[in-house]
Amino acid sequence: MLTIEALEKRYKTGDLALRGVSFSVAPGDVVGLIGPSGAGKSSLIRCINRLVEPTAGSVRLNDLDVTRLGRGELRKVRRRIGMIFQEFALVERLTVMENVLSGRLGYVPFWRSFTRRYPQADVDTAFALLDRVGLADHVDKRADALSGGQRQRVGIARALAQNPELLLVDEPTASLDPKTSRQIMRLIVEICRERTLPAIVNIHDVMLARMFVGRIIGLRAGEVVFDGPPEALDDAA
Ligand code: ADP
Ligand code: ADP
Repeated sequence: MLTIEALEKRYKTGDLALRGVSFSVAPGDVVGLIGPSGAGKSSLIRCINRLVEPTAGSVRLNDLDVTRLGRGELRKVRRRIGMIFQEFALVERLTVMENVLSGRLGYVPFWRSFTRRYPQADVDTAFALLDRVGLADHVDKRADALSGGQRQRVGIARALAQNPELLLVDEPTASLDPKTSRQIMRLIVEICRERTLPAIVNIHDVMLARMFVGRIIGLRAGEVVFDGPPEALDDAA
């Protein structure tokens, strides 16, 4: 369970990006975050894993009080929250398998052929994940040899490899074509449901949100202005 209470973010420039945001996300909830540019979506995602420091309020993930952790303890948050990014953030010169294993490890090692240094169980887990996202035939390819959709599939497998308690997804389809975007959104939502893994997806495309997620949170000027199923969005509009 993720619980956010009265979360506020004021940047040094004076911009108030979040003005008291509160909501909870239960296991299996896949939340689509929507709102106009500048509404605070990416500030919210980043405050949850403390890539950005909130100025007030609290974020709790199960037994972990994220907002109370010291800077030296932030690794704890990063280990427990999986991130999927718009730009995939893969290590280009490494293979698909190595990218996913680096997710399990939490950093990219500098030694060569590190697949062999992993316990077989980790390699098996990584392979099962790659199979699930449809990349079983591509495990030994270098990341830079893949298409955009395949790269995002690696990103998904890498985030899952750390066995996260929460998935944060920031504009996963922003650099993909419409058909690939739908495939990627469907895959993310299906996998979260299979694992009852709670997720917050910052979606720039409202149509995609309507199609795939069960719950939408609408932000405007740093405030939650909508929280409900996609059907209710029509009445609110
Ligand atoms: P969204 O993701 O919905 O487009 P953001 O979270 O990026 O919204 O931005 C929310 C508000 O915070 C905007 O007014 C934006 O200008 C401001 N903002 C975002 N990042 C920074 C930053 N690093 N420094 C100062 N202001 C920022
Ligand atoms: P190429 O096959 O394109 O010549 P290499 O696989 O030989 O590339 O490696 C390119 C660079 O990446 C080298 O600097 C190498 O040390 C590094 N590298 C290769 N494999 C790994 C790995 N498993 N982990 C970290 N760095 C690696």
